[in-house]
Amino acid sequence: MRPSRHELPELAELERLIRLGAGHLRARTEAEVAVGRYTLPVHVLTLGSEAADAPVAAFFGGVHGLERIGTQVILAFLHNLLMRLRWDPLLEHQLSQVRLVFMPLVNPGGMLLHRRANPAGVDLMRNAPCDAAEGVAWLVGGHRAGPWLPWYRGEAQAAMEPESAALCAVVERELLTRPLALALDCHSGFGLRDRIWFPLAGSRRPIDILGEVYTLKTLFDQAYPNNHYVFEPQSRHYLTHGDLWDHLYLRSRELGDRLFVPLTLEMGSWNWVRKNPRQLFSRLGPFNPIAPHRHQRVMRTHLAFMEFLTRLAGSGPRWLQGNLRSQRHRMDAMHLWYRDV
Ligand SMILES: [Zn+2]
Repeated sequence: MRPSRHELPELAELERLIRLGAGHLRARTEAEVAVGRYTLPVHVLTLGSEAADAPVAAFFGGVHGLERIGTQVILAFLHNLLMRLRWDPLLEHQLSQVRLVFMPLVNPGGMLLHRRANPAGVDLMRNAPCDAAEGVAWLVGGHRAGPWLPWYRGEAQAAMEPESAALCAVVERELLTRPLALALDCHSGFGLRDRIWFPLAGSRRPIDILGEVYTLKTLFDQAYPNNHYVFEPQSRHYLTHGDLWDHLYLRSRELGDRLFVPLTLEMGSWNWVRKNPRQLFSRLGPFNPIAPHRHQRVMRTHLAFMEFLTRLAGSGPRWLQGNLRSQRHRMDAMHLWYRDV
């Protein structure tokens, strides 16, 4: 049995888009989560090229059940693509060269229950089998005390939760098998600005692909000079255990000759609260824009970045070659982000 549209509107909208995209979208249920009398599907959708070596852009949301806006932003992008596919031959051509993967609602049980964690009380973004290399922030960095405290990692030695395992299975199957894969995982709740974070979350050590991340940032800044994002390593703010993207990034490095760039969009929700302090007492809490005009602005703001990632992936290796890929990028990146490490 499914919850009503009123109880979980994001799942209803996702399933409406699956029906709307029939003929273009391929949908599958990666996992199912039981909550009371309901069985909730964790959907994964693919669109575009079926070629085994096609580059991939992938979009994830709803890992934290309170951060509904992350799911909504991805559904808005998917809606945009499906509407344009009715009349836009350039989009059709683009999709013949790139594969898009969507997992817009990773934690439907958490979203239904209005909680960050999954129904078992585990914070999925602390649930991967990797430990931080350095000291983490107390509690927020992940702990094993128990599910009654937020940021619970789950029991040591336990298998990953079904939602985390589903996300990892999709990345292993759809992204890590390809020469080039870009991923964006949409969250909200930290700070005043919209941030694009890259690994590692568990260490202040710069990653091997720092130069490639800096190239991506540079090409976006050149194409969209008025963009408002702060690009930075997640470790600049706090370190955590069990980050799924650390786990998957490190896995991609073991596999060798491929480039996997996982990014996290952390929408700065404190600004929404500052402009509307009553929001702190709202059921949606401080993680989502409540005022309609602010909600609309957030929904359209991030379309350009998602479109950019799609086009960048579609350019294949071109964005990493020649003049675009400056040899100095890793040094520039070290200077920008790791000067004081
Ligand atoms: Zn989050």
